[in-house]
Amino acid sequence: KVDRASHPEDTIIDLGGGVMIGGGHFQVIAGPCSVEGDNLLTIAARCKAAGATLLRGGAYKPRTSPYDHQGMGERGLDLLLEARDQTGMPIVSEVMDTRDVELFVNRGIDVMQIGARNAQNFALLKEVGRTKTPVLLKRGMASTLEELLMAAEYIMSEGNERVILCERGIRTFETATRNTFDLNAIPALHHLTHLPVAADPSHATGCARYVGPMALAACAAGADALEIEVHDDPANAWSDGPQALTCDEFDTTMEQIRAIRSAI
Ligand code: PEP
Ligand code: MN
Repeated sequence: KVDRASHPEDTIIDLGGGVMIGGGHFQVIAGPCSVEGDNLLTIAARCKAAGATLLRGGAYKPRTSPYDHQGMGERGLDLLLEARDQTGMPIVSEVMDTRDVELFVNRGIDVMQIGARNAQNFALLKEVGRTKTPVLLKRGMASTLEELLMAAEYIMSEGNERVILCERGIRTFETATRNTFDLNAIPALHHLTHLPVAADPSHATGCARYVGPMALAACAAGADALEIEVHDDPANAWSDGPQALTCDEFDTTMEQIRAIRSAI
């Protein structure tokens, strides 16, 4: 069960290779929005050098327009696995379709991400719930915390209790940012559930210059992990370029994250 009353202790999850999250274990998931090719290996090496502990990259992309890049598919997973071999970082990638869950499991993807657009795709939630692979469950863009918790319950009710919740911003009347980062969600979720709580300042802001400050705010609020989009050439990224940090910017943000974390 998802609720704190049923499980007073913080849940700690091994995300692969002994990389733990929750109960004081903090991780940084970094990488490009989309896997685009060999530049993934360059980005992964830079993220690792900066201090990231997991690599993210989308091989199946939920895009607003069907004419936008939809992801490299299985070739994208191959590149992620190659980057894992080179860096030792466990990999996180979004699964969009119940029909692909078995592929993700068979290929040994370390963490399956459920995106905001599938946050209440109950068939998909149940399908990943029948696996043993950790799931990074993002909050729907109009989901209440109760709806997010019940989405996690769908996964857990099928037997997979290895769920990480992720605040990634919600849709409000504000247009200056892509979404509104609900910082309240971090302490509120820690109160309501024992599951680890991650935060994604990239999608929450949609704007690279706000990512660093909101990453620090999420740490101060008690996030167990950050998911940050990083690209070697944001201006030419295939998706979400405006919110991607350059590798140099990510270096700086990681230094600041370490400073905040040692202060709290
Ligand atoms: C992503 O992580 O690239 C993504 C699509 O995130 P979200 O589902 O939160 O929009
Ligand atoms: Mn993205």
